[in-house]
Amino acid sequence: MNLAASLIIGLFVAAVSLTSEEGINPAGTPPARISGSIDRRVAVTFDDLPGTALTPEQRCSSESLLAVSKRILAPFRREGWPVAGFVTESRLCEQLSDADLTGVLRYWIDSGAELGNHTFGHVDLNDETAESFIADIERGERVLQGLLQEAGQRPRYFRYPYLHAGNTREKWTRVRAWLGSKNYVLGVVTMDNQEWVYSSVYARAKARDDRAVMAEVMAGYLAHLSESVDYFERLSQERFGRNIPHVLLLHANALNADGIEDVVRLLRERGYEFESLGSVLTDEAYSSPDHYIGERGLSWLHRWSVDEGEQSALDPRESPRMRALFQTYGRD
Ligand SMILES: [Zn+2]
Repeated sequence: MNLAASLIIGLFVAAVSLTSEEGINPAGTPPARISGSIDRRVAVTFDDLPGTALTPEQRCSSESLLAVSKRILAPFRREGWPVAGFVTESRLCEQLSDADLTGVLRYWIDSGAELGNHTFGHVDLNDETAESFIADIERGERVLQGLLQEAGQRPRYFRYPYLHAGNTREKWTRVRAWLGSKNYVLGVVTMDNQEWVYSSVYARAKARDDRAVMAEVMAGYLAHLSESVDYFERLSQERFGRNIPHVLLLHANALNADGIEDVVRLLRERGYEFESLGSVLTDEAYSSPDHYIGERGLSWLHRWSVDEGEQSALDPRESPRMRALFQTYGRD
């Protein structure tokens, strides 16, 4: 992001408290929902269950993990909104048991969440063979399958870690064919973002009880999310001539545990209704062919377009200030 854009974001953060529920976007143009006729629906999805970018204490305490999930799910339970989660069973601290993992995941199921497989080890298909990647998907069903069976369900959705869907034609094709043979549905993402950068800094700041940085990161995160929603709405209009129902990628982390009420308010104020992942994926846009084979973790709005490489260079990025904090605090 260039200096001008970061200044605009800064102005946006300063302006948030002054704006009415009509909202404002970082580009300074009126929000598109003023037209009143734009369809705004989104499936909110959280990756890396039972939790990621948490403090070491949180990650190794079943009570803390459950508390993070409870805070993230609070508005969805309160309002009866649908939500989905993608499980990476290896994310559990080694000191915890399968029963601890089960406790967290059962809370999601009891909250009405659709749960999907996100591989066991959060493995990167860029670095794996098709065989080793498939073996890790199978391993990732170990606890999830039993739990979903109890609820009369089966693992139905799969999401690629890092949204890396195959950097060679052979891997792309073999994994996709295997998923199809197991009746897995791709947990496609249209609204991607840099939330993971903000969450990594936030977790470190929280571990140090650095309230000033926590507040700065949270404000920056919300501004970034708003900018990302603007951007992918525009992309949808360009590709489909309408705002398709979206799938938003977030993570089960401390940032969202503390900020979820602001996140859902931001989306609601833009006019979004929350829909289940299963419902959103029935939109005809999601049967568009995706052609991209490569290293990058792209939104499907790019994969459905022929010029995905050029477009994705314009994806909103974290602010320079957040990039500097990320480098100072280190990755989670
Ligand atoms: Zn992930």
